[in-house]
Amino acid sequence: MSISTPTIVWFREDLRLSDNPALSAAVAAGGPLVCVYIRETDLDDARPIGAAAQWWLDKSLRALAQGLESRGGRLVLRTGQSAEVLADLIHQTGARSVVWNRRYSAAEQTSDARVKAALKTDGIAVESFNARLLLEPWHLKTGAGSYYRVFTPFWRALRASYVPAPPLSAPERLQTCEAPSEGLDGWGLHPTTPDWSGGFSGAWTPGEDGAHARLEAFLSGPINGYAETRNRPDIGASTSRLSPHLRFGEIGPAQIWRAVKAGVETGRFDERSAEVFLSEIAWREFSYVLLHFNPQLAQTNYNPNFDRMPWRSDPAALSAWQRGMTGYPVVDAGMRELWHTGWMHNRVRMIVASFLTKHLLLPWQAGEAWFWDTLLDADPAANAASWQWTAGSGADAAPYFRVFNPITQGSKFDETGAYVRRWCPELARVPDKFLHSPFDAPPDVLQAAGVTLGKTYPKPVVEHAAARQRALDAYKMTKEEQGAA
Ligand code: FAD
Repeated sequence: MSISTPTIVWFREDLRLSDNPALSAAVAAGGPLVCVYIRETDLDDARPIGAAAQWWLDKSLRALAQGLESRGGRLVLRTGQSAEVLADLIHQTGARSVVWNRRYSAAEQTSDARVKAALKTDGIAVESFNARLLLEPWHLKTGAGSYYRVFTPFWRALRASYVPAPPLSAPERLQTCEAPSEGLDGWGLHPTTPDWSGGFSGAWTPGEDGAHARLEAFLSGPINGYAETRNRPDIGASTSRLSPHLRFGEIGPAQIWRAVKAGVETGRFDERSAEVFLSEIAWREFSYVLLHFNPQLAQTNYNPNFDRMPWRSDPAALSAWQRGMTGYPVVDAGMRELWHTGWMHNRVRMIVASFLTKHLLLPWQAGEAWFWDTLLDADPAANAASWQWTAGSGADAAPYFRVFNPITQGSKFDETGAYVRRWCPELARVPDKFLHSPFDAPPDVLQAAGVTLGKTYPKPVVEHAAARQRALDAYKMTKEEQGAA
């Protein structure tokens, strides 16, 4: 790279200034920077990000722009085909090099390879880096030379071999190069008619500062009980809630890893909880391995035996699930938490996903798509891999015949009932004994609690035992067909 010519830093899913290898490389090159975020119109086959994630992107870009400006820099916003936008910026600024951090869905990788080839043909230097994962998805291999299909050996291999690179601090001052920019307001990422995002702003602070505040809050207490409390949605801060920050790269997994390890080394954190927490970060890595080697992970069954699964089509049942009106309180609480806050506790994600694919016998793709639109952390790897895991079709998946009972799951993990009472306030006065199965409560108990099933709270859309049997029969049929084939 030449010392004096500008370098273009193409921000994508790495909306941070610290521990950002592409940004650090551009600063080290010595010339002025052109920092750009492109609203790409040429990502063939890529799904546009969902409505909730658009809300986050809007705020995250504002935070990034502010961070750059406070250091003398500027974020340029452009819409168009990435190769054309970059060529235009090169023409306008005289830049001779472009840097970015890598991304991993098939459409993005194809596009990046195309852009890289075009730039190189024009004599522009291009360099890419890893800012999103601890290790690249192709890094760890089994003894047989393939990618890991089972989590535990993957985690063991990662744990044994991963050593984080030294941290990169955010640049203190930036030299910048002027280039025309679009305005973020014109991108329409924040919902307007209607603005349904009221519950989001109270719950989240998008941006790098918000990400670090969230990490600190988690490390200053909750991490120590994580191994025990992470399955408890009724306990407010039982998990880190870092997922949307990780999704947009406001913080990187290496930064989290270093902070956790430092706390363990100084005796600040309980080692077992810290290990369990890091293993969850590793589930994210494992999802990216699966996505990299199975680019259709969000569309097709990882296990092709599930192609024979007799999924149903039932728009009314799907709608009841989406709206949190199934008549099963823990399922409804989860779906309403998702709608209001753009996030749902992991244990409840598993319960609602099991309910959709087993009790309702609806295809996991329908749930994946709803989550894609409504989750702030909707992630191309973690969402697809987790849905397939719950449905039984995924890698190292929960067996399909393990059908979660929403009543016992509710009683066990929402032990205090605080979670259901918060998100289904119409059930607030139902006694604990019947809170997770109000349909089993005697009429006088319901009356005293002010509940009329079918009016103030829905009757169950399916009966648990019958739905469970239907799911098991459907699964068995698939197995029988398999045997006959
Ligand atoms: P913590 O418990 O604090 O974990 C820390 C981090 O580890 C998370 O932020 C996340 O990056 C990672 N992580 C934790 N659990 C998992 C997991 N099972 N798989 C992959 N990464 C994990 N996570 C997403 O980030 N995006 C999604 O779109 C997504 N969709 C899901 C869909 C279903 C059906 C299920 C069952 C899980 C899904 N998850 C998804 C995984 C998990 O539920 C969330 O990562 C977690 O609830 C986020 O909350 P947290 O940050 O407090 O997690």
